[in-house]
Amino acid sequence: MSRNRKRSLAIASVAAVGLGGLSVIQALPASAATGCSVTYTIASQWNNGFQGSIAVRNVGDAWTSWSLTFSFANGQRVSQGWNGRFAQSGTQVTVSNESWNGSVANGGSVNPGFTGTHTGTNAVPTAFSVNGVACTGTVTPTTPGTNPTTPGTNPTTPGTNPTTSPPPNPGQKVDNPYSGGQGYRNTEWQAKANSVSGGSRIANNPTAVWIDRIAAINGTPNSSSNGAFGVREHLDDALRQGASYIQFVIYNLPGRDCAALASNGELGATEIGRYRTEYIDPIAAIQADPKYASLRIINIIEIDSLPNLITNVAGRGGETAQCNTMKANGNYQAGIAYALQKLGAIGNVYNYVDAAHHGWIGWDDNFRPSAQLIADTVRQSGSVNNVHGFITNTANYSALQEPYITVNDQTRQSKWIDWNRYNDELSFAQAFRTELTTQGMPSNIGMLIDTSRNGWGGSARPTGPRTTGTIDEQVNGSRIDRRIHKGNWCNQSGAGLGERPRVAPASGIDAYVWVKPPGESDGSSRLIDNPEGKGFDRMCDPTYTGNYRNGNNLSGALDNAPISGAWFPAQVTQLMQNAYPPL
Ligand code: BGC
Repeated sequence: MSRNRKRSLAIASVAAVGLGGLSVIQALPASAATGCSVTYTIASQWNNGFQGSIAVRNVGDAWTSWSLTFSFANGQRVSQGWNGRFAQSGTQVTVSNESWNGSVANGGSVNPGFTGTHTGTNAVPTAFSVNGVACTGTVTPTTPGTNPTTPGTNPTTPGTNPTTSPPPNPGQKVDNPYSGGQGYRNTEWQAKANSVSGGSRIANNPTAVWIDRIAAINGTPNSSSNGAFGVREHLDDALRQGASYIQFVIYNLPGRDCAALASNGELGATEIGRYRTEYIDPIAAIQADPKYASLRIINIIEIDSLPNLITNVAGRGGETAQCNTMKANGNYQAGIAYALQKLGAIGNVYNYVDAAHHGWIGWDDNFRPSAQLIADTVRQSGSVNNVHGFITNTANYSALQEPYITVNDQTRQSKWIDWNRYNDELSFAQAFRTELTTQGMPSNIGMLIDTSRNGWGGSARPTGPRTTGTIDEQVNGSRIDRRIHKGNWCNQSGAGLGERPRVAPASGIDAYVWVKPPGESDGSSRLIDNPEGKGFDRMCDPTYTGNYRNGNNLSGALDNAPISGAWFPAQVTQLMQNAYPPL
């Protein structure tokens, strides 16, 4: 199935060349310093349908808004467009900017696309204008009265031919890469979601693509926890979907996941060289391909790493030998700094570094030291601008808000809150954002919160506060997070889907995102032999009675789970049942 899919993609891209792109260069009257070039491509064509792609490049002064016009010669009609608002009147087509892509710097470009119908002949339009000025591929003189044909300003001067100009420069990074446009719907996850009863209700949500091993860069057709698509195939599909952004998880540090066993990685504690050259470099090379310059590529950087060096090391109760090693050798910081520097250098790439969750670093002892370590690591990359923001709750279950509990000196005494400053992800993420800026991170950073599995709806959800009994009884009767303990992280029984992915939902928050794809296991509930290096962590075994990190409680995990990353239909069914907001 995935093999067929690869083949058809290849044909589509050959067809794009065969059907041809046409660059339009015309000498037309002068105006202000507006200049544009347009490449119109019939990306694919079938019966009476076709898909068009229009690359519009600004070669003049910056635009704050744009309106592209052209006309069809053979009665073609636009059916549906993206990356621009399409309107058609007779043969004339107008494409105006979306709210999020109106600003285009000199050298920048936008890439509206559409599907349409034709009646046989499907000629490529030959004349385009932006903001009323014809796209000649060059800028006409700006001084009023200057003769536009002055020698030297001839728009047809050799060397200005836009067909040979370099690929579009994506220009300045936008403040919120999630704003406007549709996120990439991971083709492989979508198929899995659609395979379960009722799954079509969620299959259209954008989820992240995990690059969890070197082989995943080119695709791992024989893996149970990963798909056949490599990074390029996902990017190509994102282009085909007309997506405006795509999310990847960079997840392969040396000595990965030092306090747990279910997702230990392939690289040993000292293999930082391989991390750089065999993992980050090839990913960066693909993400920097100009073919993908119109996409906003979002990288979630190395979850469950830096906070381990604060909480699970010597002197702290959660100490593990592997976390001590990783703290001593500095390879988590070195790896993350390298990833940030290489990926951050690409104009259309956005890095968000993992910042754990409130039930991990919300305590005073952990909060500031974690922010300091994260900020130091970002600085180690050479520039604080290599980071665009931070993400909390990745693959975790912490509730976004606890509507029936106020954190105060009384409730903090409960076993559930246990003196933590925070009891939900939203207030934690906002406060941690402030702390990160105090530690020197740019003031415009944005936070993401993974809401893929933190909904806590269903019949067990309280409908109001409990106000009687001991403080533990009150807090336990009021909380929507039904876990046995906040330290429980594996395949939690009773969990539901959280907020659907959403842009700018609250102050300081760039988006609610689904980074952990719902229905992909956190780890196997029993030891399962596998060739993928996935370990067995007893936190995924429902009979396990716990350790220091979960207050020696039961793990709360679902039974019969496959290895981490593998599809777990019973889990996704439960997540849909307990979704909040409900589906
Ligand atoms: C696993 C990865 C998987 C990811 C997303 C992680 O826990 O280790 O293999 O891709 O979850 O499901």
